[in-house]
Amino acid sequence: MAGLARSVLVTGSNRGIGLELVRQLAASPQPPQHIFATCRDAAGPRGKALQELAAQHPNIKLIQLADTVDLPSIRGAVQAVETHLEGQGLNLLINNAGVGSQATLQSVGAQEMLATFAVNVVGPLQVAKEFLPLLEKAAKDAGTEGLSCSRAAIINVSSKVGSIGLCLGVLEAPMYPYRASKAAQNMVTRCLAAELRDKGILCAAIHPGWVKTDMGTEQAPMTVERSMQGILKVLGSLSQETCGAFLDWEGNRLPW
Ligand code: NDP
Repeated sequence: MAGLARSVLVTGSNRGIGLELVRQLAASPQPPQHIFATCRDAAGPRGKALQELAAQHPNIKLIQLADTVDLPSIRGAVQAVETHLEGQGLNLLINNAGVGSQATLQSVGAQEMLATFAVNVVGPLQVAKEFLPLLEKAAKDAGTEGLSCSRAAIINVSSKVGSIGLCLGVLEAPMYPYRASKAAQNMVTRCLAAELRDKGILCAAIHPGWVKTDMGTEQAPMTVERSMQGILKVLGSLSQETCGAFLDWEGNRLPW
């Protein structure tokens, strides 16, 4: 994607969707000056694929973020990013880290509901909150009006199965904790969009499709490469009109 943004941060970027996003951003014709790839194990074995990618692209900076639910860990990541940015703001924050849960009405318990909510709802909200000063700085310094990912934006990776509007028929995959957490995450996105629009920060929710990753499993119909090509195109097209929208990887609007 040509010239999407000067600086981009992707959470959960050691595998799956996050890793492919970082890979395609780095390979784009006009790559970002800074690609901050956060990982729970930046220096260890779980971060190996990301370390190898970063070795080929000096603009990829591995950022340790031990847990998107843990405030000191997020604050440590903010500090590291701030140091790299040398006074500039952060243009684009992509809250990608998430966990799945297949629990049904029969098997679901409080612990699994709470654990899934922590990562999928509390995590993205806290990360957005802590990176807000850097996003505000980018929005202010952009020297342009209007909303876009190249100015300042928060993108939450959501899921179609979190759509309340689409959840009327037979439930093929009940996934109570996952569906409910993504519906709640969507409300966080809407609130952020309403609150931050006047500060020049665009917020939107993106559904990547059903993608072959550890979470999506091998049964998924779409490769992560194809989904990310679509998502990067959609991100480049976001504007005032799509601020606060719930879109899929092809740019189609989804019902909340
Ligand atoms: P994966 O399971 O392949 O990867 C999940 C990523 O999130 C990993 O990097 C993981 O890190 C990280 N992560 C999980 N929990 C935490 C945490 N508490 N703190 C920090 N990082 C964490 O999933 P996908 O790549 O498939 O999914 C990425 C996003 O896309 C998720 O938000 C998911 O809900 C969404 N999505 C995926 C779909 C699919 O079909 N794959 C469909 C719709 C939405 P670690 O390796 O350390 O565990």
